[in-house]
Amino acid sequence: MKTAFVGLGAMGYPMAGHLGQRFDTLVWNRTPEKARKHAAEFPTQVLENFSGLRDVDVLFTCLPTTREVSEVLEQVLPFLKAGALWVDCTSGDPVKSLDIAQKLSGHQVIYLDAPVSGGTAGAINGALSVMIGGPEEAVQKAQPVLSAFASKVVHVGQVGSGHAVKAINNMLLAINLLSAGEGLVALAKLGVNLEAALEVINVSSGRSNATQNLIPQRVLTREFPATFALGLLAKDAGIALDVSRAANAPTPLFSLTESLYRAARDTVGASEDHTAVVKMLENWAGVTLS
Ligand code: NDP
Repeated sequence: MKTAFVGLGAMGYPMAGHLGQRFDTLVWNRTPEKARKHAAEFPTQVLENFSGLRDVDVLFTCLPTTREVSEVLEQVLPFLKAGALWVDCTSGDPVKSLDIAQKLSGHQVIYLDAPVSGGTAGAINGALSVMIGGPEEAVQKAQPVLSAFASKVVHVGQVGSGHAVKAINNMLLAINLLSAGEGLVALAKLGVNLEAALEVINVSSGRSNATQNLIPQRVLTREFPATFALGLLAKDAGIALDVSRAANAPTPLFSLTESLYRAARDTVGASEDHTAVVKMLENWAGVTLS
């Protein structure tokens, strides 16, 4: 089994490292120094030219959006082997991915949307969750390869379903984070000790990953480590809103949340950590959570 990985970013770099430990793995990155660094650190080989994909069985992509996946598709299409799988771990757009799947099927390549959750820590520990969309037989074939970096793989439906589930998951993250930030800003203005407030909230019904982990570890410490960009979460909120609107579902909360994350991306900064959305609330309130 030969694999290749395109996109050695915060997630792709450690994911490709796990693949290299189990399979013959080629790595490619837009900034080529990262691929060279990867091959020095892990048992992987640099893919110098896309023609090297001719004997690859499973090609992975983990890029910011579906737009970059489509750009890569144009460059690699002539070199893909008939019968190969394309496993796209980008948190992408379900509708645009259908076009990609169709284009690939014309070359006898099967596209699976396989976005991941678990953050950079999950990627480093090889403990990601994967929500995968595509034909059952191809999903079965991908399963042992995915297990190199995932502890949970769930087949959620046909192509596009993985991206849809991931977008909704991240919208839930976005809402939980924003609402926890809003609540703590109010408590700070009331003069309540925030550590004490979180101690009790985290054993009460309002707890979430935001109150249990993100706020105490990233916001109250003022560290905001940039492991998952605010711009990427704003992008995911946009996809969730598009998905829901396309389904004719009501979106009052999704619409508001999406516009707030767009505002935060544009005022706080797209490359800041996603938890820095709280800084927008702090600025409005004139308080700092610490
Ligand atoms: P990063 O910004 O860290 O990495 C992006 C990668 O894409 C880099 O390798 C970058 O190359 C490459 N890239 C960017 N533009 C292009 C292009 N036009 N052509 C080719 N390559 C390109 O992103 P993440 O690793 O954080 O995220 C990747 C995906 O995973 C996103 O869809 C994100 O939403 C999702 N995700 C992220 C999580 C996280 O915690 N970070 C968690 C779960 C999902 P270069 O090095 O040259 O810039």
